[in-house]
Amino acid sequence: MASDLETEVQAIDRSLLECSAEEVALKWLQATDLPKEVYQHLAHYVPRIYCRGPNPAPQREDMLAQHVLLGPMEWYLCGEDPALGFPKLEQANKPSHLCGRVFKVGEPTYSCRDCAVDPTCVLCMGCFLESIHREHRYRMTTSGGGGFCDCGDTEAWKEGPYCQKHEHSTTETQEEEDPLVHLSEDMIARAYNIFAIVFQYAVDILTWEKENELPPGLEIVEKSDTYYCMLFNDEKAVNCTQKEAIGFATTVDRDGRRSVRYGDFQYCDQAKSVIVRHTSRQTKPLKVQVMHSSIVAHQSFGLKLLTWLGNIIGYSDGLRRILCQVGVQEGPDGENSSLVDKLMLSDSKLWKGARSVYHQLFMSSLLMDLKYKKLFAIRFARNYERLQNDFVKDDHDREFSIADLSVQIFTVPSLARMLITEENLMTTIIRTFMDHLRHLDIQGRFQFERYTALQAFKFRRVQSLILDLKYVLISKPADWSDELRHKFLDGFDVFLELLKCMQGMDPITRQVGQHIEMEPEWEAAFTLQMKLTHVISMMQDWCALDEKVLIEAYKKCLSVLMQCHSGFADGEQAISLKISGHSVDTIRYCVSQEKVSIHLPVSRLLAGLHVLLSKSEVAYKFPELLPLSELSPPMLIEHPLRCLVLCAQVHAGMLRRNGFSLVNQIYYYHNVKCRREMFDKDIVMLQTGASMMDPNHFLMIMLSRFELYQIFSIPDYGKRFNTESTNKDIVQQNNTLIEELLYLIIMIVERFSPGVGQVNATDEIKREIIHQLSIRPMAHSELVKALPEDENRETGMESVIEAVACFKKPGLTGRGLYELKAECTKYFNLYFYHFSRAEQSKAEEAQRKLRRQNREDAALPPPVLPPFCPLFASLINILQCDVMLCITGTILQWAVEHNGYAWSESMLQRVLHLIGMALQEERQHLESVNEENIVTFTFTQKISRPGEAPSNSPSILAMLETLQNASHLEVHKDMIRWILKTFNAIKKLRESTSMSPVAETEGTIMEESSRDKDKAERKRKAEIARLRREKIMAQMSEMQRHFIDENKELFQQTLEELDTSTSRALDNSPTASDTKLVALGPEQARVPEQRQVVTCILCQEEQEVKVDNRAMVFAAFVQRSTVLSKNRNKVIQDPEKYDPTFMHPDRSCGTHTGSCGHIMHAHCWQRYFDAVQAKEQRRQQRLRVHKSYDVENGEFLCPLCECLSNTVIPLLPPPRSVFNRLDFSRQPNLAQWIRTVSQQIKALSILRDQESATKRQENNSFLIETAHLLILLRNPYSESIKEMLTTFGTAAYKVGLKVHPNEEDPRVPIMCWGSCAYTIQTIERILADEDKPLFGHLPCRQNDCLTSLTRFAAAHWTVSSLSAVQGHFCTLLASLVPNEKNGNLPCILDIDMFHLLVSLVLSFPALHGQDFSGVSLGSGELHIFHLVTMAHVVQILLTSSTEENGMDQENPNGEEEIAVLSLYRFLCQYTGSALKEISSGWHLWRSIKAGIMPFLRCSAMFFHYLNGVPAPSEMQVSGANQFEHLCSYLSLPSNLICLFQENSKIMNTLVESWCNNSEVKRYLEGKRQAISYARESNKLIDLPDDYSCLINQASNFSCPKSGGDKSRAPTLCLVCGTMLCSQSYCCQTELEGEDVGACTAHTYTCGSGVGIFLRVRECQVLFLAGKTKGCFYAPPYLDDYGETDQGLRRGNPLHLCKERFKKIQKLWQQHSITEEIGNAQEANQTLVGIDWQHL
Ligand SMILES: [Zn+2]
Ligand SMILES: [Zn+2]
Ligand SMILES: [Zn+2]
Ligand SMILES: [Zn+2]
Ligand SMILES: [Zn+2]
Ligand SMILES: [Zn+2]
Ligand SMILES: [Zn+2]
Repeated sequence: MASDLETEVQAIDRSLLECSAEEVALKWLQATDLPKEVYQHLAHYVPRIYCRGPNPAPQREDMLAQHVLLGPMEWYLCGEDPALGFPKLEQANKPSHLCGRVFKVGEPTYSCRDCAVDPTCVLCMGCFLESIHREHRYRMTTSGGGGFCDCGDTEAWKEGPYCQKHEHSTTETQEEEDPLVHLSEDMIARAYNIFAIVFQYAVDILTWEKENELPPGLEIVEKSDTYYCMLFNDEKAVNCTQKEAIGFATTVDRDGRRSVRYGDFQYCDQAKSVIVRHTSRQTKPLKVQVMHSSIVAHQSFGLKLLTWLGNIIGYSDGLRRILCQVGVQEGPDGENSSLVDKLMLSDSKLWKGARSVYHQLFMSSLLMDLKYKKLFAIRFARNYERLQNDFVKDDHDREFSIADLSVQIFTVPSLARMLITEENLMTTIIRTFMDHLRHLDIQGRFQFERYTALQAFKFRRVQSLILDLKYVLISKPADWSDELRHKFLDGFDVFLELLKCMQGMDPITRQVGQHIEMEPEWEAAFTLQMKLTHVISMMQDWCALDEKVLIEAYKKCLSVLMQCHSGFADGEQAISLKISGHSVDTIRYCVSQEKVSIHLPVSRLLAGLHVLLSKSEVAYKFPELLPLSELSPPMLIEHPLRCLVLCAQVHAGMLRRNGFSLVNQIYYYHNVKCRREMFDKDIVMLQTGASMMDPNHFLMIMLSRFELYQIFSIPDYGKRFNTESTNKDIVQQNNTLIEELLYLIIMIVERFSPGVGQVNATDEIKREIIHQLSIRPMAHSELVKALPEDENRETGMESVIEAVACFKKPGLTGRGLYELKAECTKYFNLYFYHFSRAEQSKAEEAQRKLRRQNREDAALPPPVLPPFCPLFASLINILQCDVMLCITGTILQWAVEHNGYAWSESMLQRVLHLIGMALQEERQHLESVNEENIVTFTFTQKISRPGEAPSNSPSILAMLETLQNASHLEVHKDMIRWILKTFNAIKKLRESTSMSPVAETEGTIMEESSRDKDKAERKRKAEIARLRREKIMAQMSEMQRHFIDENKELFQQTLEELDTSTSRALDNSPTASDTKLVALGPEQARVPEQRQVVTCILCQEEQEVKVDNRAMVFAAFVQRSTVLSKNRNKVIQDPEKYDPTFMHPDRSCGTHTGSCGHIMHAHCWQRYFDAVQAKEQRRQQRLRVHKSYDVENGEFLCPLCECLSNTVIPLLPPPRSVFNRLDFSRQPNLAQWIRTVSQQIKALSILRDQESATKRQENNSFLIETAHLLILLRNPYSESIKEMLTTFGTAAYKVGLKVHPNEEDPRVPIMCWGSCAYTIQTIERILADEDKPLFGHLPCRQNDCLTSLTRFAAAHWTVSSLSAVQGHFCTLLASLVPNEKNGNLPCILDIDMFHLLVSLVLSFPALHGQDFSGVSLGSGELHIFHLVTMAHVVQILLTSSTEENGMDQENPNGEEEIAVLSLYRFLCQYTGSALKEISSGWHLWRSIKAGIMPFLRCSAMFFHYLNGVPAPSEMQVSGANQFEHLCSYLSLPSNLICLFQENSKIMNTLVESWCNNSEVKRYLEGKRQAISYARESNKLIDLPDDYSCLINQASNFSCPKSGGDKSRAPTLCLVCGTMLCSQSYCCQTELEGEDVGACTAHTYTCGSGVGIFLRVRECQVLFLAGKTKGCFYAPPYLDDYGETDQGLRRGNPLHLCKERFKKIQKLWQQHSITEEIGNAQEANQTLVGIDWQHL
């Protein structure tokens, strides 16, 4: 069946290929009815090419379509062979000066913060690198796809619109030139014809809605019964396997539709009903259609055609112009009948794939042609409402909607202005927006339903309209036409209508008695406010540019505000207020009883406009133009005041029963995102109103709204609150309200904003920064977050930051910080209006501390303020008006009679601050006064006057003097003293004429201070003591707080220091007998072993480390490692059969052991470990809680430092002191020793044969008995130590080979030796890379770990099978000393010599155990070492790639040089002259020295830890002659070749046998590779300095599995540099029966389970270990402010920080990745829940 279909298809294909494009084109050229001809052609061929089976065959389809369908069109268009025609077109083409590159998903884009007109203007990487903006402040983001490069658009850039690439074309061509002049008449006609036909065809078929019928002209005669069941945009699929479903989901997600079934109608229809039935209960039912295959075929080709058109117009701007013309031309049906209109208007009906194809075509045609961009903009604006309505109903994201093109059009300033004036775009947008929000209450205000997820989704869509409005307003006009004024004000009108619907929405009534039942909806209203914030600001900016517009707007706004007020039904009743002889009429209104709304956008807009008037001075120049007479100040302040009172009452806890929604609203009201158009403007409105009122009246109204009028108007009213009967809550409430009232008065007399005070925007931002930094030093990003951003996302911070702060660079962790300059502290205002309460108290504390540190008094007086603008000048009178003095006096009175009243210190503090403000004001006035002016500000005189009868209260001054000596006000004394001092100064200033008042003032101060001299001295001393105490306390608490995060290293060190003090003295401290320290052999230095006493961290008991004591253990972590690997592709295939006896020199996989160095009793640890396990089992039964460690795998956390561990190493005394016997024996030479050992081996093998024989015969051999008995007798270790030896050995085996634990396995000892060798090698590399000397520079934990690891490995043979260890020794030795029994061993090129050395040395005692020859272990060790060293020398010479270059040869005829040359000649001889001819002994000796160094260093460490001989002091410092010192320590001649000469006889035989190996021959013949020496240390890959290089690299990376698709989470392996497609279904693979993501899979080959990655889009380092462990780590990229940008949210340029990258590399080299993950997971439990394996 299937093959039949196949052959049929092939036959059709053959017939199709016979079709000739040229002939068809010729026929078309002669046709009279061209459209009909073309349609016939398409009708015939398209269904034969496309959609011929269930699966798409894109390559075949493309090939055939090009040949049969597109070929003829190209021939027709060119009128000749397109291979000739297109190049001609290209030549005539004037390249566009626009770049227009359409961005791929994830591609980096750049915006210049200095020159971009708005943040949507972006450059592609290519253009950016060639532009001037490279040197500017730029921002980098990754594109979400769609959108194009704005290079060359002169309207997008204030400067440098062209990059170097696109610049040339502008100089020669005039923009107005018609591109058609370069095309021939014929060509124009043909292009017009064919474009019109195919464009029409594509539009018709894509917008075709019938499922079973073709458009006219395309019908087919014999309709086949083939259909597709088409699924639109969802993830569920019918009856298909998991893999298929993922495939479906991915395509549907990408293209917006996918066929799920192909077959006859019935078959497809069935599938459809199944899907519909399955999904009918879902909230969003699926869209499924059964479509005839020919329709799908034509649609596929339609898309192909659009892409083709896009390519064709790329050849010529003339053709592009023609296509635009065709597209925009109106059809026969009039309005909206052009092809472009048709496509746009059916956008929401098209599937995703179709949309993105035609959007791209629009971008490369209409938007690239300046003339048609304008025409298209008009079409777009006229259809705006419909497009937006469609979009709001549509369920695709905005980037897939045609509505998204608004950003390309509206952000072009000239287009935006044209659309405002000609198409009334502002009004259209706002009206469309309002139409979508038609939920009004009876007062005509917005009313939002519950904010559900669906609601939020809908609402987000509607908000994109606000974004459009923002685009339109973003560039402000420099000159205004009357038309523009007119249309802008029209738009402003509609905007006011919108704001009017918001004025008073979501009103709040204080809940008394019961708590509210349901939290009222508030989010929608605030979201709306937040989104509109920038628009409101921009509206004001526009108004500010033109006085006529400003005045008109002001009038309109005022009239709308009055309409709003008439709408509020308050049922107000007039009342009269009287204080201090002043009286005012107002209404009775209680915020605590009636409705209040936080939303007052109309009032706030008016406040904004009023400030603009003040700034622009229109008000003084043309007062007659303003409706000032209509202004009623009490009306203006009423609503903002109510809102502020509401906040005060919330602070006073009066609205607790109103729930969290209110708390949230108050929070956002003050929040940096909203405050600019909410809280700030309310303050301005109060200032506006107050500046037009009698200050006494204003304050009385305030008192009344705060519901505090009676307290201050009725004498002694306050006393009532102190009676026992009064509710404590009410007292508290009133106190808070008074505090809030005073705070508000302070804010009203302040002058924060331009227009109110004589300040500019820069001063404003400076003050914000000063006050933020008064709290504490801050990072750049923290400051940015604390400052309001404008519509261009700029805070203006950079322009002023240098003036007020110093930058402190970050260290290896943390970030760079800005610190406030000392000279700026004088601007600090404790009552800065943007401080939250918490911030205020932190700032107060910080500033007082600072002053004390500087030995200043701790008073924080108000700063000197800038003068008011004239319109607001009268505000200062609030400070000295009678009602204010009454309030001040009353509160001071309370403080004086402090027991009689309920009052608070904060109240007093605020009053003092207000007095301070008034004094500053008066001093300012006096100092700046000139002859004509009389100072009307006479605060000092007023406060000196005592109260009048009947109360006869003392003056304010008198009360302050009283309070200065009050014992209960210690904290405020400094401030009161400051006030009195300033008062005196002002008095002197007033009294003095033109004499020098300064000296006199100083005199008084001196006098005053001398009186307090003693007191001050005492105080100073106490202060110093206190400061010292404070500093220590602060340091301690600081350490406690941050020790895990920031002082981790310090903490670690401290811990380590503590540990060592409890364990023992360092053993490599130089001893007196430094003269000849030899680490091994018969001449080994004898050092008395120090008694070692350690403390168990669990039971705190002390114990000595002795062979027969209970075991003490270190917590340890064993892991597989590829850090030293030179071959990352090698994986152990079958661990059960793997033979680890020999380590290959590529060290592809080793076993690393690390320890935190914390010591426990073995039995204490066992108890602890059992408890952890039991707890975990209980926990797992109840609920599965993830843990940072895997208990089932034997993991636990060190009980002291919580370091991840999976086993323990026992602490042991040096093994040699246990086993070595006295050295009275004879010392054989190498040859003799080899002979003896060979005999022993032979004897052993006979013995073993007998053993296996006797086993069968059940007949015990006496010999074996004795041997075992001897070992048993000799094994001095206690049972507990033996147990621990087995425990660690098994762990090394289990982890290293990844097998089930089996303590009997003969490979266990090999794994132990291997881990010892590997760990020493890794540490040697770290020391070498850091240029540190070999000894004396390791942290204690590593030193301890290596000591115990080596001693453990040396002792392990005592618990394993003796014959197995003996067998290992025989095999190992046979690789160097061949014998007939062991064939098939690796050649010396394939052995890591250090691993061989360690294994030989550590297995030797097992042989020695039965040695009765009297040869000491020591001499055996030395011979083994010499033998392996010589083998290594030969290995190095064989593989050396020494080049004889012309380098200076210092001593070409030295002893070493001559010796090595003769050895080399010898090797040449043995290898049959296959070795390269080298005649320079000097070069050879150099390469031997370099190649053998790592081996010698490792050996020195190994023997040092094994035999406990201290290192000579020369080796504890870096310096020259290290090679000689090493040789001497290791008992080697410094001329290594002497070893060969001394043992020439035996060595000649051995060297010959090494060289004769067939593998060595193959290598020398070039048939195989080998590792050469010295092996270089592995490093992490090199990273580029500029992070955008990585982004670009990642954006060019496509998923390797899904054919060219862009990867969503490209992730770079930092170990090997592979880019991976992470966190995606497409690249999941199966690993050990589980699905894992690309990263996890990669770690298994690249890092033996451990991986270090960089997630490029997130700018985040990822650590992975195994399948369940992972964490994110700070990336090594920093911006100029010393901060990382995880998630790339801020977009500042990022550069590589080498130190931080080195730190990551070190973590890797030290094998601390797993530990780091453990720490991160312990610190942050949410990390444990992440599915790391799917990354
Ligand atoms: Zn570009
Ligand atoms: Zn460019
Ligand atoms: Zn720039
Ligand atoms: Zn213990
Ligand atoms: Zn520990
Ligand atoms: Zn890798
Ligand atoms: Zn993939």
